[in-house]
Amino acid sequence: MPLPYLLLDIDGVLVPFPAADGSTPPTHVRHTVLPTGRHPDDPVPVWLDPSQGSILTDLLTSGLIIPVWCTSWRKDATTIIGPLLGLPDFPYLDLPRPQITTSHPDGYLWKRDHVDTWLGRAPVVWIDDDFTVLDHGWAQERTARGLPTLLIQPDPYVGLRADHLVEVREWATRQSGTNEALDAV
Ligand SMILES: [Mg+2]
Repeated sequence: MPLPYLLLDIDGVLVPFPAADGSTPPTHVRHTVLPTGRHPDDPVPVWLDPSQGSILTDLLTSGLIIPVWCTSWRKDATTIIGPLLGLPDFPYLDLPRPQITTSHPDGYLWKRDHVDTWLGRAPVVWIDDDFTVLDHGWAQERTARGLPTLLIQPDPYVGLRADHLVEVREWATRQSGTNEALDAV
């Protein structure tokens, strides 16, 4: 089996939602950035936990997974967010730009059809804060077909936690163990 992909979202994962009073977690350092196509007079604030840079880098360079950004930041993930966290360079999915007013236009995450086609039969661990029950069903169905699929869903108001990354690493290590067992027969 090929190495699993690690699909990584940003909003609600690396950049948690602000609290009702507008405050952001004290662990997260605020930056002002200019996404592609945005007027220079209209930059946007983001907040990132610098301590996540090194633990993410450890995982991204572990050889256990193939990291790919999966976010509406698209290319800006690689040029803005990744460098702010000190992450190594890795590719992004060029997601479609549907005219939607909800992230679940068909009851499931809008990114999923594109991801499903792009993955083909590849195993995947996907970190996103916005899965629905239908997405979890999709993951179970894929896994049942012999395509290991793990969804990690942080609380968007908290974002990614260290134990999520431990779970990813343990799952990916099990996949590589399965590969070694298969190679041995
Ligand atoms: Mg999100």
